[in-house]
Amino acid sequence: MKEFTPSRVRAIRRALGDWYQANKRDLPWRRTSDPYRVWISEIMLQQTRVAAAIPYYERFLARFPDVAALAATSDDDLLNAWAGLGYYSRARNVRAAAQMIVANGAFPDSYDAIIALPGIGPYTAAAVASICFGLPHAVLDGNVMRVLARLTQEEGDIQSSGTRQRLQQSAQDLLDISNPSNHNQAMMELGAVVCIPREPKCKFCPISKDCRAYSSGLAAELPIKLRRAEIRRVRRTLLVAIRNGNILLWQREQDAAMLGGFYELPEPHQLPEVKTAKLLFEFSHAITNHIYDFHVIAARVGQANSPLQWVRLEQLSALPLSTVARKALAGGKVLP
Ligand code: SF4
Repeated sequence: MKEFTPSRVRAIRRALGDWYQANKRDLPWRRTSDPYRVWISEIMLQQTRVAAAIPYYERFLARFPDVAALAATSDDDLLNAWAGLGYYSRARNVRAAAQMIVANGAFPDSYDAIIALPGIGPYTAAAVASICFGLPHAVLDGNVMRVLARLTQEEGDIQSSGTRQRLQQSAQDLLDISNPSNHNQAMMELGAVVCIPREPKCKFCPISKDCRAYSSGLAAELPIKLRRAEIRRVRRTLLVAIRNGNILLWQREQDAAMLGGFYELPEPHQLPEVKTAKLLFEFSHAITNHIYDFHVIAARVGQANSPLQWVRLEQLSALPLSTVARKALAGGKVLP
């Protein structure tokens, strides 16, 4: 941490560790260093707050007291135990990881082997590796990012990869390798109960003496989170013109930047003479920061010029139709 001298880094580590030992909340997953239990708690805590996670955690472990019980469970039982937590793919990943652990004979005890399990990312791997095996890997979750952004007065956008890399480096530099478990949990706890969003409780903070944002009065302003591009809604109309067993389509250039070679339904600007009949169907489709509200209209068309072309209806299912055209035709009952 280039912001602090080695002696200040040592002082911050000590203050954090002492504060955690004196103030940590008594939570069920803190009463164990069993990697199975710690892992399950970390996955659940990614989805819900501490208070809400406790009953789920206790019920889940009563039902699946060890990794073998989880590995052997059925889909129905698994989803039942996970019901209410959402993100069911995570539940399936948890069981897939349990099956790998059982097949390997033991819970992996290195960071690389832990992160290789299904559904485990850098944060969970660092948490389990440090809390259960004392390995020197710093955790970086939202709470820790907030603490570090304030401590070092990081003014980059917290969502950018450059800022995250700097914070990951700060987290690793600050890690107390004599007790990674205590240190990581102290950082997470500080972010959860003291260095909270909007109104941090700096008066109660054990590291306020070294906190750059506190001394410059910027604590409540950090971390910086820039607004994402605004979502725009756009209304569009697609025309379904059918005549003598043919439907009117156009094909995108093969080398078009987007959807090259795909067939589309025409829009009114391509058929100024069109006589519209009735609304067939409406749907919305999101692409990057746009939401398109499509109205699919049955139309009667006389003349149609290139690139528009009449295509036999029987050929439709064999053509590369864009997702939007496919949705419109399915909703308008032209395609099954
Ligand atoms: Fe967070 Fe305030 Fe502590 Fe700085 S002094 S780490 S802003 S709680």
